[in-house]
Amino acid sequence: FDPYALIARDRVGIQDFVLLDAHNSETAFLDNLKKRFTEDLIYTYIGTLLISVNPYKELDIYTKKQMDLYMGVNFFELPPHIYALADNVYHTMLSETNNNFILISGESGAGKTEASKKILQYYAVSCPSSTLMDTVRDRMLMSNPVLEAFGNAKTMKNDNSSRFGKYMDIQFDCQGDAVGGHILSYLLEKSRVVHQNHGERNFHIFYQLVEGGEEDLLRHLGLEKDTKRYSYLVQGECSNVSSINDKDDWKTVKNALSVIDFDANDIEHLFGIIASVLHLGNVHFDGDTKGYATLNTNAALRWLLEIHVQVLHEALTFRKIEAKSEEVLSPFTVDHAIYARDALAKAIYGRAFTWLVNRINESLENRIICVHDLIDFLLILCVLSFEQFCINYCNEKLQQLFIQLTLKAEQEEYEAEGIGWEPVQFFNNKIICDLVEEKHRGIISVLDEECMRPGDATDLTFLDKLEEKMGNHPHFVTHKLADKKTRKSLERGDFRLLHYAGEVTYCVVGFIDKNNDLLYKNIKDVIRLSKNPMIQQCFPATEGDSRRRPETVATQFKNSLLRLMEILTAKEAWYVRCLKSNDNKQPGTFDEVLVRHQVKYLGLMEHLRVRRAGFAYRRRYEVFLKRYKALCPATWPHWKGVPADGVEKLVQHLGYQPDEYKMGKTKIFIRYARTLFATEDAFEMCK
Ligand code: ADP
Ligand code: MG
Repeated sequence: FDPYALIARDRVGIQDFVLLDAHNSETAFLDNLKKRFTEDLIYTYIGTLLISVNPYKELDIYTKKQMDLYMGVNFFELPPHIYALADNVYHTMLSETNNNFILISGESGAGKTEASKKILQYYAVSCPSSTLMDTVRDRMLMSNPVLEAFGNAKTMKNDNSSRFGKYMDIQFDCQGDAVGGHILSYLLEKSRVVHQNHGERNFHIFYQLVEGGEEDLLRHLGLEKDTKRYSYLVQGECSNVSSINDKDDWKTVKNALSVIDFDANDIEHLFGIIASVLHLGNVHFDGDTKGYATLNTNAALRWLLEIHVQVLHEALTFRKIEAKSEEVLSPFTVDHAIYARDALAKAIYGRAFTWLVNRINESLENRIICVHDLIDFLLILCVLSFEQFCINYCNEKLQQLFIQLTLKAEQEEYEAEGIGWEPVQFFNNKIICDLVEEKHRGIISVLDEECMRPGDATDLTFLDKLEEKMGNHPHFVTHKLADKKTRKSLERGDFRLLHYAGEVTYCVVGFIDKNNDLLYKNIKDVIRLSKNPMIQQCFPATEGDSRRRPETVATQFKNSLLRLMEILTAKEAWYVRCLKSNDNKQPGTFDEVLVRHQVKYLGLMEHLRVRRAGFAYRRRYEVFLKRYKALCPATWPHWKGVPADGVEKLVQHLGYQPDEYKMGKTKIFIRYARTLFATEDAFEMCK
């Protein structure tokens, strides 16, 4: 086959959108994606950005043979593939010794997690190997099933949906060996532990434990082998899913845990926590004559966290209020008791998850002495998670970074090649980021202020404050102002943000509560009495002493995003954009409306515009000359001088006009795709 086939137009469309003639047309863009998708070609480039369309079926393109094919090959020499991207990033890192990161984005079910696994597998197979590295590599691969078991769940959109954000750092030494790694998780959707919508499940691990757990273990944990017995597992009414085999997955997870150094004790403690959450869900309250919560049985408490039953009982039905110098016990209403119970379940699970990530990190810590030679390389998954608001803010920040870095990269290349920069018009979404994050003025600040206000703050007073403070902002709309700004009306309790990708309406219900994420102090004190050492690490005693208010959820998230942006700005960015082909997980179905929507909100047309603003095509002189030298007598069969001069001779012979191309230091830049296609046609003819 023709290794440069990229630039040939054939029945499978074009492999790189920068060569699309009608590059401003969304329809042409979609046609090309669809044409390729129909032929099982799920990957297409925009320059070095990779677009992937979820095929919802196994394709024969992830074999060892395919990996070998892509190893060390120039990016554009083979059909687009995630391996090409992975390989290119790796070699860029080694040759330019700079830091790189791959950002994988797309909506739930689009294929982000699969893409990250393919990249890791590629590195596992293709990076040079030695025994020491193998350990790190195995652990890196094995951390995946563990994190998926604890952090993924079946949702309506995806049977294996990641319910947390993750970025992963792989450290290579100067030889290119993977020597260590680090995982950061953010925004685990804790609310799923206590509540699931219809058709959705709790986190996989609960079902795996109950379905797959060994009899001894279950007996020890006081669990029965029946998921229907646990209220936290049955709300979605779909414990069994045909695509999921919890028993098999249990074995995989157990095995993975042992690879990352979990011994029998750790496992007992870890699953003691998971079982406690299940038992906690089965603690039900009745109301006494005054409406206060009572527990009719202590049965479930017996299995909880190795804490004395009576102490726990009290903590779940009374609140301790510190008044002057005495402590007063105030009984919970039933609703309060349920709230406290669920808050406890969420806190335990959430902290156990963080603990688990930290443990995995310890096992990934490199055991190599020459630490200072490390080069970072970052893999990010941006995942839909519990607060749509936080997630959309995250996407907004990533878009900002993307525009900055893409423009910067283009500008730098033009500069390096000695070609004048031609400014590009683009929509700068800073105004929306500011609306959300600005100190004292942004939505998060307003929310925090409301959360801090003692007494009567509610979701609706928060909304009033927003209206008051940002009613005039062009990207913010509420009920009162809806008719003036957009024609669509709004419910009283909603506000709308005009994100770069489109309008999103948010309902304020729960904002205050979720942002506070409160756990009553006396419950915290009681948890610390647990004999489970893992719980003791999750709830350190020192934490309770601090009089300072803990940071709110939104502020924690904002700060971690800002830190991340700082890290990423200094690195070279690579992008994988995942698209969902349809909403029904159907193989071979291309839902044009759905894909069009994603193309829009992922900013793909915008990216293409930036990439094409100057020149559609650029290649190193040697590569260009090698392919087309037969088209000019002066360069055929060999050009003896420097490649740049050969290329100049060649394009003059072909009749390129001065506005059609520019000669850089190492590359030729061609402005229009049609120029290149004409050359390619001539090449086909003379073959
Ligand atoms: P996300 O992480 O974006 O929510 P996943 O990566 O979990 O989505 O993908 C959802 C499902 O889509 C997977 O379980 C798998 O069945 C299918 N899928 C995704 N990418 C591919 C691919 N490259 N080849 C085949 N199937 C895929
Ligand atoms: Mg995922």
